[in-house]
Amino acid sequence: MGEFELIRHYFAAAACAQAAEGVVLGIGDDCALLDVPVGEQLAVSTDTLVAGVHFPADANGRLLGQRALAVSVSDLAAMGATPLAFTLALTLPDVCTDWLADFTAGLDSMARHCGVRLIGGDTTRGPLSMTLTVFGRVPSGQALTRSGARAGDLLCVGGPLGNAAGALPFVLGERAAQEGAAELLAHYWTPSPQLALGQVLRGLATAALDISDGLLADCGHIASASGVALIVEEGRLPLSAALRACVGEQNARQLALGGGDDYVLAFTLPTEKLDALRASGQPVYVIGRVEAGQGVHLQDAEGRTIKPPLSGYQHFGSQCD
Ligand code: ADP
Ligand code: MG
Repeated sequence: MGEFELIRHYFAAAACAQAAEGVVLGIGDDCALLDVPVGEQLAVSTDTLVAGVHFPADANGRLLGQRALAVSVSDLAAMGATPLAFTLALTLPDVCTDWLADFTAGLDSMARHCGVRLIGGDTTRGPLSMTLTVFGRVPSGQALTRSGARAGDLLCVGGPLGNAAGALPFVLGERAAQEGAAELLAHYWTPSPQLALGQVLRGLATAALDISDGLLADCGHIASASGVALIVEEGRLPLSAALRACVGEQNARQLALGGGDDYVLAFTLPTEKLDALRASGQPVYVIGRVEAGQGVHLQDAEGRTIKPPLSGYQHFGSQCD
């Protein structure tokens, strides 16, 4: 199967690549064309997933398609944007028709869930990897950035933490399935971008991001962009029953602080906005506060500072000379 037949058969024909509002021109030309309504801005984000680095090389195609798109759309949620479209640059070692059918089925189901259309991409041969670029729209000037946190704000998250990190030993086949494993695996393979929460946070939150590298590491980005200190209260971390069952309370906390891949939103919120957010019905867990200063600080129930566990994952953690 040649490149163009492959594109036509698997991508142009996918349900998520069909005509939709806001997409003037999709797959098939040199560029896609998007309409951005007057008074709105385009939010754009790119993520690359590499086999053997971000997912096991033999991962199920359908799960991978779902996860790749969810991870990318989560960045739109973190900005308070409404998804419009995405492109897919796919590098494949060979053409495996079963895998491609599974992969596009996974993309399709997540695209439907998120309301986003496939509008183009690139298809090349090489070690398996994929780069997705997502496009969303957000009312001008209202996108949620990392730089607006103020001393006195609450630090909040949109859901339980550590589930995806708790799933990793099961993903890698290092642990046999046990009670709670299926729920953790669902968090890993099909994270649900918190789009509705992000949109409600516009005009309420002062800063936001989605947690991809671990709570402490990602809170560090808000702290430095905003020029403030973030205090995380260990006793207030939301932990799922499944995570507790699989790894125990102590490890669950460590995973909630340092484990990545959750794609839950973390945000700062003026205290007086908490009632309005709760009234929206969106999930909110207060886990700490913003103070003057810098960095991220972990406190126990008595307010004593405790040493944080391992930090989040970083590519190029060691420098080349
Ligand atoms: P060009 O040579 O002009 O860059 P290509 O031959 O790479 O175009 O692609 C032809 C059309 O198919 C373009 O509209 C491109 O966006 C689309 N396309 C290529 N690969 C993919 C893919 N993996 N998913 C979706 N669309 C794709
Ligand atoms: Mg091309």
